[in-house]
Amino acid sequence: MTKQILKAYKVRLYPNEDQQIFFAKSFGCSRFIWNKMLADKIEYYRETKMSLNNTPAQYKKEFEWLKEVDSLALANVQQNLRSAYSKFFKQGARLPKFKKKGIKDSYTTNNQKGTVAITDSTVKLPKIGHINAKFPDKINGLIKSATISRTPSGKYYVSLLVETIVNELPKTQSNIGIDLGLTDFIVLSDSTKVANPKFLAKLQDKLSKAQKIMSKRALIAKKDNRNLRDSKNYQKQKTKVAKVYEKITNARKDFLHKLSFNLIKNHDVIAIEDLNVKGMVKNRKLANSDSSWSTFTIMLAYKADWYGKTLVKIDRWYPSSKTCSHCNHLLTKAELPLSVRMWDCPSCLQQNDRDINASINILHQGLILAKQSKTVGATGLA
Ligand SMILES: [Zn+2]
Repeated sequence: MTKQILKAYKVRLYPNEDQQIFFAKSFGCSRFIWNKMLADKIEYYRETKMSLNNTPAQYKKEFEWLKEVDSLALANVQQNLRSAYSKFFKQGARLPKFKKKGIKDSYTTNNQKGTVAITDSTVKLPKIGHINAKFPDKINGLIKSATISRTPSGKYYVSLLVETIVNELPKTQSNIGIDLGLTDFIVLSDSTKVANPKFLAKLQDKLSKAQKIMSKRALIAKKDNRNLRDSKNYQKQKTKVAKVYEKITNARKDFLHKLSFNLIKNHDVIAIEDLNVKGMVKNRKLANSDSSWSTFTIMLAYKADWYGKTLVKIDRWYPSSKTCSHCNHLLTKAELPLSVRMWDCPSCLQQNDRDINASINILHQGLILAKQSKTVGATGLA
């Protein structure tokens, strides 16, 4: 079976000086129109208690330079702002935030009959033409939109959203339960423990060292009564910190992509605990960051969908650690403090590794839930 999906490809761009200037203008105009339209919406709301429907076109007369950039970039700002603002207005979400220069500099444009296109070594964008690029993967399919961004360390990327076809992966007749590890990243019901990659820890060290040097340089500049913007040493170090930080983000994403893909490829039903609640992971287990876990579960979810597999999320209140996977005997909280890694079941005497036992319970529970849902018939579970 094949499936049509939307897939994002991140491509490194190497703009020349003129193109960098164009990008800077586009980021600036997108940020300006977001902030301006948001400010006007807020003011209008204060005066009338009603929602203002403003458009970028209304501002082009007063701010003529808005015409210099891709009008679709501004249209996308309008759309994003409208949806963020209506969440505030109708659903009581927080007010959208004003954007600051240098933080998430980006703009999005759309492909209109080939205005966004790729060659072997370039990406073509509206109003600016071909920009040198390096592609990590082969891109097949219809490009829908392009988001151009600049990282704090000064690298340019375009994220191309492409309509593409994926083939479902063959069924393996194997199922797996995943527990969030205490010292490992995850522990599986087949007793595999997947550690956090060592290179991540090394990069983490490198980051804290670089950050320490940066704060020292900030102090020196302060002592000399120099503005941080004019302190070359500080700025140099700041770029270095940003570079290490980006490296960590990319390496972590890469690790999570490979791990989630392999789990989906090798198993039909994948059962995890539903810990996707802010702060929940941090409180429960300390070795993992919230964001890694939630990114990981998001990846598992869409990959399961793409490749015809089943992801089951177990209720977070299910006592996966305290239940003996062999005989279902339930320990009390006092009987299993966090420090206990191995325990002997008082009922059936089985020796349990805390995390492996939990992941086996998660698998059992997952299979029960999967059986109850319709998708199970399709995956052929007995
Ligand atoms: Zn037992």
